[in-house]
Amino acid sequence: MKIHTILILLVLFGTNGISAQNNKMTNNQLKDSLYNFIKPTYPSIEIEVNADKNGKNHIYFTEKKFELLYPQQRYHYLIHKIPEDFYNEYLQNTVWYELAPDEKPEDLDYHDEETIKSIKDIILEILKAKTDFVKKLDSQFIKNDPVECFGDFRHSKSILTNLGFNETEQFDIFHVLMHEGGYCDCELLYNVFRESEYSKNYWKNRKK
Ligand SMILES: [Zn+2]
Repeated sequence: MKIHTILILLVLFGTNGISAQNNKMTNNQLKDSLYNFIKPTYPSIEIEVNADKNGKNHIYFTEKKFELLYPQQRYHYLIHKIPEDFYNEYLQNTVWYELAPDEKPEDLDYHDEETIKSIKDIILEILKAKTDFVKKLDSQFIKNDPVECFGDFRHSKSILTNLGFNETEQFDIFHVLMHEGGYCDCELLYNVFRESEYSKNYWKNRKK
């Protein structure tokens, strides 16, 4: 009778891990919990959890939709799917790899905080004052038949490409913009370029 009750409790609470497991979770349980948090948004994501020889967990997230995103953007979307208390309990000391299907961990590239700080002012100056990037992006979002934001940078990328910025330059530009709180085309306008018409409308409607 008692054992039966415990089994039911495990079935009810076992996989979400927030129950009294005392900070111990097998890799499969960790994987199941991550699937529960992330699958509603990324139904075909694949997750692997492997411990290294020091017992540190390395977590591999592979998703087709990541192809159009920078690793930093992928991380941003994933981390927002995971409850903070779960993260604090089980994920603090883990290494993450956010991969598109044919990528390897060594393909992933990020900018560190220091690099971003050293290029930030010049890049924002170029985007705001030396080119009409903001005006061009803004006009796509405020015209009568506005473009849709797909949660990526496809519209800004095409504008920057037309303005003559190559992939490396765009990598720098978008890492500054993400650091400023813009993780997709529409966020660039309402979080970073608040002087844009789209942003003014956005914040006015939010206040209503
Ligand atoms: Zn957006």
